[in-house]
Amino acid sequence: MRAPTRRPGFSTSAIHHGYDPIDHQGALVPPIYQTATFAFPTVDEGARRFTGEAPGYIYSRIANPTLELLAGRLAALEGAEAGLVFGSGMGAITGTLWTFLAPGDQIIVDTTLYGCTFSFLHQGMAKFGIEVTHVDLTHPENLAAAITPRTRVVYFETPANPNMRLVDIAATSALAHQAGALVVVDNTYCSPYLQRPIEFGADLVVHSVTKYLGGHGDVTAGALLGPREIIEQVRVYGLKDMTGAVLSPMDAHLVLRGLKTLALRMDRHCANAQGIAEMLASHSAVASVAFPGLESFPQHQLAKRQMRLPGGMIAFELKGGVPAGRAFIDALQLVTCAVSLGDAETLVQHPASMTHSTYTEQERAAHGITPGLIRLSAGLEDLDDLLADLGQALSQTVAVS
Ligand SMILES: *Cc1c(COP(=O)(O)O)cnc(C)c1O
Repeated sequence: MRAPTRRPGFSTSAIHHGYDPIDHQGALVPPIYQTATFAFPTVDEGARRFTGEAPGYIYSRIANPTLELLAGRLAALEGAEAGLVFGSGMGAITGTLWTFLAPGDQIIVDTTLYGCTFSFLHQGMAKFGIEVTHVDLTHPENLAAAITPRTRVVYFETPANPNMRLVDIAATSALAHQAGALVVVDNTYCSPYLQRPIEFGADLVVHSVTKYLGGHGDVTAGALLGPREIIEQVRVYGLKDMTGAVLSPMDAHLVLRGLKTLALRMDRHCANAQGIAEMLASHSAVASVAFPGLESFPQHQLAKRQMRLPGGMIAFELKGGVPAGRAFIDALQLVTCAVSLGDAETLVQHPASMTHSTYTEQERAAHGITPGLIRLSAGLEDLDDLLADLGQALSQTVAVS
């Protein structure tokens, strides 16, 4: 890029970071390097790329210019030194944890985790002699009591999927670092526009880029952001060898396109979620609402400290429990029943039978995922239309409850 005269803001970085059209025949939109492999000018040069003595691309499972552009841009947005992108959020999570955990190590995780992260740890990692310990990290002092010299990684989501528990990133990271553990935060629910865990002391951030960062529900992708040395270890081991969970250049292009409007979209997601949460909280059919932007939210102050805005995700329960929840979702006409989140379309789903059905019923009870919980991802539609649809569907649940 031409020499910058000032530090760019968030949206400027989301649109420009790491790319100057003048270096690419003037193409405003970065070219898509849709190639699996890269030619070496000589055998000697190829060999030197493999040993790391010479820079340059080798094969797209290791690195590719379109993927590197996206990874560097995401790193800039998260305030990280470097980044690595993956074919899915689960690719990023598994590739990272495979790199750092060995038999005999312990990983401490919060009580609540996204369903596939939970099953990866309990059905995957546990099989290889890695001890998985759940600690209620909504109280950081619980970590001090549980951490041991074998704790290699402390891992959490904030807000947690699906029940919106928050973890104090600064306090938890400080305690983990005293014991020499790596802190990994799944920042999917916030995107770097709302929360930058590395600024609060976390070592690594993982994302399901499928969600807000891609933002249009048309691509699965993942990312890891953090110190360059760690990123390179995960690239050559967790990505290249252990998972092969590489992102396609075409999908990286779609994410680069989505990122340009991230800040605009997040502001609208948050405003719509605030309006929906307030309506739900005052509705007679609703038993409880968990949304960080409500003053009634138990961790409202922590949300204000570490999140720019309260986010676009809401968890709530109806007074009529599971039967009322079913009737409510089936009565929706505009709002769509689907898993995933962070899309332009407002989505609702039932975690106990969908995203968190990877837990057994007993596990869900122990991990704070109640049977009647409904998860809503506020989209970008007109708020009045959303409120009208949610309102008419709620009125139909009264007959059931
Ligand atoms: C969706 C999700 C994941 C998994 O990401 P994929 O892109 O679906 O593999 C991980 N963590 C959280 C919090 C998620 O919501």
